[in-house]
Amino acid sequence: MGNSARRFLISFTLSNITLTLHFFNTKTMIQEKLQERSNNQCELCSSTNNLSVYTVPPRDSESEENSILICETCNTQLNDESKVEPNHWRCLNDSMWSEVAAVKVVAWRMLNQLRGEGWPADLIDMMYLEDETLAWAKEGSATEDEEEKIIHKDSNGVVLESGDTVVLIKDLPVKGSSMVAKRGTAVRRISLDHENANHIEGKVDGQQIVILTQFVKKS
Ligand SMILES: [Zn+2]
Repeated sequence: MGNSARRFLISFTLSNITLTLHFFNTKTMIQEKLQERSNNQCELCSSTNNLSVYTVPPRDSESEENSILICETCNTQLNDESKVEPNHWRCLNDSMWSEVAAVKVVAWRMLNQLRGEGWPADLIDMMYLEDETLAWAKEGSATEDEEEKIIHKDSNGVVLESGDTVVLIKDLPVKGSSMVAKRGTAVRRISLDHENANHIEGKVDGQQIVILTQFVKKS
């Protein structure tokens, strides 16, 4: 083989090695956005200690709307009522004025939980929550029954539950992208939209998407 032929072969081979790595880590992206929003501080008490993403129940999909960035102390106390130290939550005096609805929801709930201390009740009286935010804050307590009335069913009428795996029964274009979720794709660990019985959410190719229940089959 002549030199020119060899050179041609090498360049041909290299140009055909096109490696496209599509790495989509939704979780990290949300944490980064929340870090930006909060200036890298706990959105409840401003601590910078061990920050993590906390998604405000009963919502269960991480997003800028549903989630807040909180420190280890707040996280521990939010997850275990027996560890709550009322004085720690005096920080809500400031954070209850946050522009972030999810922060207000957590503040409102914690202040209600601590109502008996006296000062939290005064703060609640000063708080202002939009109707929608207040409804979210109350969700998971009094409105739990209402939530249960929303039942998600797949294309065959089989009841879907959070955490189920479903299979797409047709190709679905993904809104806002050029992606098409292919028929037959399994979507694992779905979450349910508690306000809309026709909507479920799940990850396809690492992207969190909303899927209509009529296009899925429980597997
Ligand atoms: Zn904190």
